[in-house]
Amino acid sequence: LDTKAVRIIRTEDDHLAHNYHPLPVVVATGEGSWVTDVEGKRYLDLLSAYSALNFGHRHPALVAAATEQLGRLTLTSRAFHNDRLGAFATALAELCGKDLVLPMNTGAEAVETGIKTARAWAYRVKGVPTDAATIIVADGNFHGRTTTIVGFSDDESARDGFGPFTPGFVRVPYGDADAIAAAIDENTAAVLVEPIQGEAGVIIPPEGYLARVRELCTENNVLFIADEIQSGLGRVGTTFACDREGVVPDVYLLGKALGGGILPVSAVVADRDVLGVIHPGEHGSTFGGNPLAAAVGLRVVEMLSSGEFQQRAAALGEHLKTKLDAFLGHGVTEVRVAGLWAGVDIDPAIGTGREIAERLLARGVLVKDTHGQTIRIAPPLVVRATELDWALDQLRVVLEG
Ligand code: PLP
Repeated sequence: LDTKAVRIIRTEDDHLAHNYHPLPVVVATGEGSWVTDVEGKRYLDLLSAYSALNFGHRHPALVAAATEQLGRLTLTSRAFHNDRLGAFATALAELCGKDLVLPMNTGAEAVETGIKTARAWAYRVKGVPTDAATIIVADGNFHGRTTTIVGFSDDESARDGFGPFTPGFVRVPYGDADAIAAAIDENTAAVLVEPIQGEAGVIIPPEGYLARVRELCTENNVLFIADEIQSGLGRVGTTFACDREGVVPDVYLLGKALGGGILPVSAVVADRDVLGVIHPGEHGSTFGGNPLAAAVGLRVVEMLSSGEFQQRAAALGEHLKTKLDAFLGHGVTEVRVAGLWAGVDIDPAIGTGREIAERLLARGVLVKDTHGQTIRIAPPLVVRATELDWALDQLRVVLEG
């Protein structure tokens, strides 16, 4: 075959590091929940760039905010003030019910910033002896790809070949609050968890887990850091996944959808008694808090402030759950749904997650497999019920072989 797509993929193969194994589709344009490939074939996007496209491709309000800002100012660095960052920080702090925002770019940077903040807080506020602070994390976690972060992963393919790793992390089973209670000691700075584990396959902890983690952290003077980079900003039918249990963490880590699907924007959000421990010169990023990011991020926060996207995710999520539950026993062994976010475990007798993703691709539906047998469904929150139904019809056909 010598199609345009094949030629483009060959160019990538020749000159791109092979750190990904993409599905064989070459996307050229996108609008709302749909993308079109270089041959003109349309696909419904049920991945949403791992939830970075919660508002869909090129949402008009976000494109307008970006375009307007592109005509004014794009970058100053934090050596100077810019006239956009303050408004973004104010709005984001209010959305989170917190005092302060520390803007970064990627999710991994927000996680690293959260780790540094927790350590500085432990030494300067809690009184932990120098270099003795520990952070409790969960089995199955995914917080990004830096050496510190992969160092506390239990995924061998993330770690193997990349050591030595940063010490100071204690890993316990996910969803088990008693294990956290047992792991906390006087040197514990923080508990860092995803309120719902995304890359692990949309793993929803038992009801009461987040509330119990909150209690344990309060009782033991330990920071509760919620990595809401994939779960937050409307995906699960509430602004944050922690809201499902009415839980407020000490620190929110945000990213992905915060950049409106346009550019990388991440942030650490916490009260003054926590984020206030970071002083000038101790942390930063050349691009963190740039005016273009701030303009888009502000519009994202404004869009979330109406609650409209959260409500859509909740309502469509109910619909998605009903439909997916009907697949149980018909090529699907388990389904986990939170808002418009689902992990669907494929019966190995039918195929691997990758094979199902390839067959769905052929039928115009984009999903991504994770951990062998799971496919993740995370449509843009602007998807229509009829589009979702059509995609699930394609899944039924694929599962029926
Ligand atoms: N934290 C969570 C929960 C994530 O799902 C991800 C990315 O998938 C990250 C952090 C890392 O984000 P980034 O890829 O922007 O560095």
